[in-house]
Amino acid sequence: MMNQALTVINEEREPIHTPGSIQPHGLLCVLSELDFRITQVSLNAKDIFGITPENLLDRPLADFIEGDRIAEIRACLDPDSEQTNPINLSVTVDEGSTQFFNGIVHRAISGEIVLELELIAATAKRDFTQSYRHLKDTLAKIQVTKTLSELCDLIVKEVRQITGFDRVMVYRFNETGDGTVIAEDRKPNLEPFLGLYYPDTDIPQRAKHLYLLNWLRLLPDVNHPPSLLTGLPGTEPADLDMSHCVLRSLSPCHIEYLQNMGVVASMSISLIQEQRLWGMIACHHNTPKFVPYEIRTICEFLGQLMSTELSVKEATQNLDYKLRLKATEVQFVNRLTNATDFLQALEDSPDDLLALTGAQGAAVCEGDRIALIGSTPDKEEVIDLLGWLPDRFENDLFVTDSLPSLYPNAKAYKKVASGLLAMAISRTQHRYVLWFRPEFLQTVTWAGNPDNPTRIEADGSVTISPRQSFAAWQETVRLKSLNWLQCEIEVAIELRSLIVDVILAQTDEMARVNLELTRSNIELDSFAYIASHDLKEPLRGIHNYSNFLMEDYADVLPEDGVTKLQTVVRLTQRMDDLISSLMHYSQLGRSEVVRQSVDLNVLVQQTIATLKISHPQHQIEFRLPQPLPTICCDRSQMSELFTNLIGNAIKYNDNAEKWVEIGSVESKPVRNGTQISHTLYIRDNSIGIPPEHLERIFEIFKRLHPQDQYGGGTGAGLTIVRKIVERHEGKIWVESTPGEGSTFYFTLSEAVKP
Ligand code: ADP
Repeated sequence: MMNQALTVINEEREPIHTPGSIQPHGLLCVLSELDFRITQVSLNAKDIFGITPENLLDRPLADFIEGDRIAEIRACLDPDSEQTNPINLSVTVDEGSTQFFNGIVHRAISGEIVLELELIAATAKRDFTQSYRHLKDTLAKIQVTKTLSELCDLIVKEVRQITGFDRVMVYRFNETGDGTVIAEDRKPNLEPFLGLYYPDTDIPQRAKHLYLLNWLRLLPDVNHPPSLLTGLPGTEPADLDMSHCVLRSLSPCHIEYLQNMGVVASMSISLIQEQRLWGMIACHHNTPKFVPYEIRTICEFLGQLMSTELSVKEATQNLDYKLRLKATEVQFVNRLTNATDFLQALEDSPDDLLALTGAQGAAVCEGDRIALIGSTPDKEEVIDLLGWLPDRFENDLFVTDSLPSLYPNAKAYKKVASGLLAMAISRTQHRYVLWFRPEFLQTVTWAGNPDNPTRIEADGSVTISPRQSFAAWQETVRLKSLNWLQCEIEVAIELRSLIVDVILAQTDEMARVNLELTRSNIELDSFAYIASHDLKEPLRGIHNYSNFLMEDYADVLPEDGVTKLQTVVRLTQRMDDLISSLMHYSQLGRSEVVRQSVDLNVLVQQTIATLKISHPQHQIEFRLPQPLPTICCDRSQMSELFTNLIGNAIKYNDNAEKWVEIGSVESKPVRNGTQISHTLYIRDNSIGIPPEHLERIFEIFKRLHPQDQYGGGTGAGLTIVRKIVERHEGKIWVESTPGEGSTFYFTLSEAVKP
């Protein structure tokens, strides 16, 4: 704020467009409207023109210049005329010798007709012809430059060659107005200025405005004192708007600035893009140097040409990089569309994930699951950051090149995350991808101290002063990363919409498959049920008729025939058992799970009591090492589950001292979103199960023993148990050591309030 206020004071104090004086290498006169009478003239008239100002004032220009030329001057003021500056003028000065001048005429913004005269050097014509030829080559070269930096390098070389300046540079202004030297061609013995930063305050706003009005300024000798204007009574030379004058004297401030740099002559050409001062071609010379009007015209033309090329070159500037980003993105598209777990897919391609946005670190987050890639803050810090981020998102994106200045906690990890590009994929499900960039200890070489452009005068007033020292000094910009480029941000946006599309497509597909699966499961179950039901009837017929045969024809049949009939009866009985199991199994799939709160301790005790009754012959120790949970489940299915598993533990046990342990694995159930799951187990000292059968025993009708061993059975018990577990969103598995015993584990899930 302070600096801005000072700038205003300074500019008011120094009206640089109405200095009332010119540089003394030329002559300026103001002409009256009707008869081109000289109403104002510069005090150096005698030195340039050989005639004193007094002898020029109030005299018609025609007294000194041929009539033809007067007509040309008048034509030059007519916008419809083809007459252009400069007009060649010859004047006989007081010693009788003839001097040749370039006359440059224009109408000032304040309305006056202004004629400026510059001496024509003896070599001017030859210089111009040479330069013009050179210009043609330059144009051809400009057209083949590919990048902005190639263009700038070419321009500084060409301008230096055409003009012969010691140093020619291209300055570029950034969005805050600071200028950087981005290209330079210089005499080998000069120290390089390439890369130097010039703070915004170096060039006052008013001057920048003037640079937009006229494309080229020349200062042939900073040490030549300006020549004041004088005028007829009633004229105000101090009010003459000299914005468009080629001889306008520069502000003392600017002159001091150049002197501090050791510059004697300078020329600058504006580079303008969309009515904005994009930069400048700045030329410096360490001795006085005049550049003739024609050569300046060529330089001005080059400046204008370069200005038109800027947009094209800037657009292609990052083209290679953009193409690389696109290629990486396309690879991601392929991988993600085929991925079932897209966050995993992101983590699986760490290099590409970082390359996508030019980051050095990334965090892929989904709830509590956080995968860190490359250089990142640690997990706890990322979790804290995720707590702060949600309110900052705009269109699900948050971008900053200075996280620590917005979020002070980030100072602790500025080295890895001064820059953050965060993308929210789903805020409700806490899915985010964060990209990090380290602090760019941006060693900016300032040409002087940008913090101190002001000076307190003896009278206590403040002016902006050119900086006294040009020894480059370093300012380190802290807590900042390199800027995120628009193309990098766009890739993040595209990636986000891609992921969202993939998720939506996957969710749709999953819903469709689930529906299909449910439908075909129901169909299968009802088919099994109906088929079993229908099979039972003929089976009953076979059974009954076999019995009738035995009862009615036992006497006539040989003994062997009776035995066979008995086998038929036994097999029909077994088949009936199998069909009943199948019916029961299919019924389980079709019936609803009726959940209610069940205290498993009570349920298990009831099961044990029943089993004790049905196995009175066995000595069994039932172990319950810790209390079992109370969970929300289907009571009758749960009862069947425990009956089957504990029953098997007793059944497949040869030991005289049998034991069965029923327990729960975790002291605390596992919570996953809105579900909690309990893991329970039933352990025994049974005969055990060979490893190759651990999976197969869950298949329907799969028994490991002949029918007459271990109390028989249909082999459907474990299949039914697995169905019950699955209907409670759980899974079942077994661990076993043959000869020692088995442990059946199973999980049961229940919904809880979020
Ligand atoms: P079933 O008991 O009717 O044969 P299951 O489906 O309950 O059918 O069991 C399948 C097979 O798994 C059994 O035949 C048995 O070989 C084996 N099995 C089941 N439980 C145990 C156990 N606790 N210990 C050893 N083997 C077992």
